[in-house]
Amino acid sequence: MENFKIEITEYFQKQIDVDCNSEEEALGIIKEKYDNGEIRLNETNYIDTDIEIYDENKFISKLELLQDRIDKFNKDRDWDQFHSPANLSKSISIEAAELLECFQWNDEKYDISEVEEELADVLNYCLQMCNVLRCDPIDIVNKKMDKTEKKYPVDKSRGVYTKYTKL
Ligand SMILES: [Mg+2]
Repeated sequence: MENFKIEITEYFQKQIDVDCNSEEEALGIIKEKYDNGEIRLNETNYIDTDIEIYDENKFISKLELLQDRIDKFNKDRDWDQFHSPANLSKSISIEAAELLECFQWNDEKYDISEVEEELADVLNYCLQMCNVLRCDPIDIVNKKMDKTEKKYPVDKSRGVYTKYTKL
């Protein structure tokens, strides 16, 4: 019997160790703990969770946990009904405009906490859209990066912002 030792490091560095037989079982345990609130709540209601499966030397992403949290938030409030791809696209654009508003009158002086909040709103809606469309945010960004790297070869695009069609 293999032993998968999982360490869950929460905010304030609390740790939970779980022994189990397989990666699947490990994921199941993590999801169960997450669903019943064991690994996500503390006095500030803040998630900062790192999960590591040592035997496989693999990291289960914090992103997956975050997506689950967002998903649960919406399900608990029965808000999925409002989250069509079109509505989420609008929301991404609206929040992107709010992000821009942080720099409306001065490019140099901005309130970092306001910027973080608006950036979080943009990311939140992007992740919700990935959930709705059942696409993996990391995969789609990597796929796009593959294309963009080809469009903008280093030797032609280094230090210039010329559009790829004119390189
Ligand atoms: Mg906002």
